[in-house]
Amino acid sequence: MLIQNYINGAFVAPVRGMYIDNFEPATGEVYSQIPDSDEEDVALAVEAAETAFAEWSVCGAETRSLWLEKLAEGIRKHFDMFAEAESKDNGKPISLAQRVDIPRAISNFEFYAKAITQFSSNAHYMENKAINYTLRQPLGIVGCISPWNLPLYLFSWKIAPALAAGNTVIAKPSEITPMTAYLLSKVCDEISFPKGVLNIVHGLGTNAGQAIVAHPKVKAISFTGGTSTGEKIASIAAPVFKKLSLELGGKNPNIIFADCDYEKMLQTTVQSSFANQGQICLCGSRIFVERPIYEKFKKDFVERVKQLIPADPNKKETKIGAVVSASHMEKVLSYVELAKEEGGVVLVGGYRYNPEGRCANGWFIAPTVIEGLSAFCRTNQEEIFGPVVTIMPFDTEEEVLSYANSTKYGLAAILWTNHLARSQRMAQHLHCGIIWVNCWLIRDLRTPFGGVKSSGVGREGGFDALEFFTEPKNVCIYYGE
Ligand code: NAD
Repeated sequence: MLIQNYINGAFVAPVRGMYIDNFEPATGEVYSQIPDSDEEDVALAVEAAETAFAEWSVCGAETRSLWLEKLAEGIRKHFDMFAEAESKDNGKPISLAQRVDIPRAISNFEFYAKAITQFSSNAHYMENKAINYTLRQPLGIVGCISPWNLPLYLFSWKIAPALAAGNTVIAKPSEITPMTAYLLSKVCDEISFPKGVLNIVHGLGTNAGQAIVAHPKVKAISFTGGTSTGEKIASIAAPVFKKLSLELGGKNPNIIFADCDYEKMLQTTVQSSFANQGQICLCGSRIFVERPIYEKFKKDFVERVKQLIPADPNKKETKIGAVVSASHMEKVLSYVELAKEEGGVVLVGGYRYNPEGRCANGWFIAPTVIEGLSAFCRTNQEEIFGPVVTIMPFDTEEEVLSYANSTKYGLAAILWTNHLARSQRMAQHLHCGIIWVNCWLIRDLRTPFGGVKSSGVGREGGFDALEFFTEPKNVCIYYGE
């Protein structure tokens, strides 16, 4: 199958005619090809987006809202096809794509279809002198670049507010998981979405991605991906003062106090460690357990993790699928070796797993739990982004805070305690943008989403994203004598 770019409402081949292989992680085999686009393709997309901006930016929030609803409806109509494609392209269990990825992509469009009709701006009245009102105008052409772990979910999380706010968009999905973005362009075609408003350019980050970032007519970049890529993007965008929203890597602590609701914590910790094979930026990969329950937790947790056997993602009962690529599998396994060198003991997992049958050559890793490491070693400081967690005991709040805050990252934290005052104290002192207390992954789309330190700059979600994708312009009217 040959994926094509979607530019100016048409499916087009890359200008240079070059393609990249796209693999199915569960089998390790190539099953489609995507355009290896470069600056010439991006230039075509920019031209289309520039023309389309003239109408889209002034057609009114109600009209844009209706179009976003149609996009949501278009995905819903082909729900099964989207879920199957996401699972095949990424290696994630089909049940996860059905339960999380595709429903959340639909809600992203639905949410911003509604949000834009409620978005308002400020007025500042100066007694007896003047009145100020602030226009919130779309930026123009914006670039949206997303990663492979939650492909359509994070792609739509950017596109929806960008379009709702009246911008035209050049979007690039990850070259590793391009399929559902391609299906979205099929939906655009099916519903006759206004041409040039959303342009989807496929290709490598260093080629197509960089061309989007560097293009002088692209006014802002909303990026989700790795911290080192974020640095690269910032170094190109900063000298020309391009607006940036960067959602980057993480190394989230999961902090478990002895007074927690033990069974609920155990069940959720299995999820927060290994959902999507640990490839969710919000997974808790460093598990700190208060000493009185450490040994019990270790025994019970390892027991549960042993039951997580990777299997064919397209089977409905599968809970753990394949990791996304051969190189990612090698990277994750190299961290298991590093952990051993650093004195870690692998309690369960730690190896490539080969299921029988169709997936025998797929990229699977047995869910892995490691103990015996210092909170400050490389294994506990660097992002692994796979089905690997470490467990460590602690004695006091101060001690665990020093461990939790010791990495360069600061995206999310998970906290398990029934002590109200402690949860407040901890929440205030944890260095991160998102904290879950006695739960994980509950998402209210109105809340600010993002991290601190090397986990990023800016916030997505709610009106924060609409503010990012608009420029405030103050108008001051003097009415005094
Ligand atoms: P990545 O940085 O390799 O790639 C992300 C996207 O950027 C891809 O579309 C890629 O093609 C593109 N890209 C790569 N180099 C580029 C360049 N020089 N210029 C422009 N675009 C470029 O990340 P990944 O491996 O796809 O995703 C995994 C990372 O994403 C992890 O670090 C994870 O923590 C992070 N992530 C963060 C969040 C968050 O909300 N903070 C969410 C999901 C994933």
